[in-house]
Amino acid sequence: MTIRIKKQSTGKNLCSAVEQLAGVDLSLCYQCKKCSIGCPVSELVASAPAEIIRRLQLGAGDELLQTDLIWTCLSCETCYARCPNEINFAGIIDALRTIALEKGAAKPEGNSPLFNRRFLNTVKSYGRTYDLQMIVSYKLGTGKYMDDVEKFPTMLKKGKMAILPPMGANKNKVKRIFDAVKSKGKSR
Ligand code: SF4
Ligand code: SF4
Repeated sequence: MTIRIKKQSTGKNLCSAVEQLAGVDLSLCYQCKKCSIGCPVSELVASAPAEIIRRLQLGAGDELLQTDLIWTCLSCETCYARCPNEINFAGIIDALRTIALEKGAAKPEGNSPLFNRRFLNTVKSYGRTYDLQMIVSYKLGTGKYMDDVEKFPTMLKKGKMAILPPMGANKNKVKRIFDAVKSKGKSR
C-alpha cells in the first residue's frame, strides 16, 4: 500500500475533528486491516478503511474529504464489528461525510450526496426511513424517473417497500437528535 499525503489546510485538525465527531481514538488503530478485509466495497474504492485511518493518523488534510469511500460506504458496520479495538469506522465515515458537506467538499459528480440528503429528510420527518417518499424525492432530484422502475412491483410483492409512511416512531426524539447534531456542527 502506497500512501501519498498532500497536506492542505486542516492537517491535524481533520483528525481531531473526526475523532471528536465519531467519538473514537484513532491512535488505537494498529493497522491489522481486519476492517478493510471485511468491507464489501473496499475493492471498489481508492482507499480502504485501514488506509483512511492511516492517512488521518499521518495528518492528512482536506484532500481526504474527496475520497470515494465517503460516498460508497454502505454503513453496514462490518468494519466496526471486526475491529479488535472497537474502532467505529462507520462512525468515522459519517464524520467525514458531515465535514465534507459542511465544507462543500462533496464530490460534485455522482448522486450519493443527494441520496443521503433525501434519506435523512424522511428519517427527520417520520422518525424512520420512508422508502417510497425517499425514492420519489431522489428521482425528482436526479431527473432519472424511469431508472429501476421495473423492480418496483417485485419489491412491493415481497414486502420490501411499503406504500404508507412508517408509524410508531418517536418523531420528537429523532428530531432532537437532528437538532443536537446541527448545533454540534455549528459549535465546531
Ligand atoms: S460500514 Fe462502510 S466502510 Fe465499514 S465495512 Fe461497511 S461499507 Fe465498508
Ligand atoms: S480493524 Fe481496527 S485496528 Fe485493525 S486496521 Fe481496522 S480500525 Fe485499525
